[in-house]
Amino acid sequence: MNGYTVLVVEDEQGIAGFMTAILKANEYKTLLAKNGAEALMYATSYCPDLIILDLGLPDMDGLDIIRSIRTWSQTPIIVVSARTHERDKVEALDLGADDYVTKPFGSSELLARVRTAFRHSALRNTSSGGDISMFRTGELTVDFAKRRAYIGDTDVGLTQNEFRIVSLLARYAGRVLTYDYMITNIWGPNVKGDNRILRVHMANIRRKIEKNPGAPEYIFTEAGVGYRMTEGDRS
Ligand code: CA
Repeated sequence: MNGYTVLVVEDEQGIAGFMTAILKANEYKTLLAKNGAEALMYATSYCPDLIILDLGLPDMDGLDIIRSIRTWSQTPIIVVSARTHERDKVEALDLGADDYVTKPFGSSELLARVRTAFRHSALRNTSSGGDISMFRTGELTVDFAKRRAYIGDTDVGLTQNEFRIVSLLARYAGRVLTYDYMITNIWGPNVKGDNRILRVHMANIRRKIEKNPGAPEYIFTEAGVGYRMTEGDRS
């Protein structure tokens, strides 16, 4: 056992069984809540290390559960949602969920999301607050101090805003960041609601860092939600 307890909130028995079996096989302890009332009760009485939350529950809106838990706890929350509900995913992330998986999903995807969520919550709890000076994945290096990005040894020549976008994604590598979160972070709250500025920058960034901008290796588009940088090494 790795000592981590994961609370799974899911009313569909088949999916709940699938998730708890995968987690147990990977040495996580699991708790299962079949509705929102149980979820809130288990979250307060057992203080799990991670919560996997289905948004479509019989008794409560999953978004209200995030809202409630975030008033007192920073426990990572991974949302499980149907493919068609992009607006829910965005709202869940903006309410403080850490990530999401889309139904149907496989065991490797679920475990990758779980590991990423644990890594980020561990970073958040270190004395440095998760500060890193370098991020590397594949050929891409992001140097936070020099404010430059390299492919191999070559400086790709990002503009200041392009670098801010790349470094934000690198800091949260493996996690999806919503359009609104990124835009607010880079340009401030007043530009909100217009993703075009971000899309234009992303097209330029991809031309500079991706071998084939149409099939990116480093920064993925999460349709209707935002962007995700592939996982890498921090130092
Ligand atoms: Ca459900």
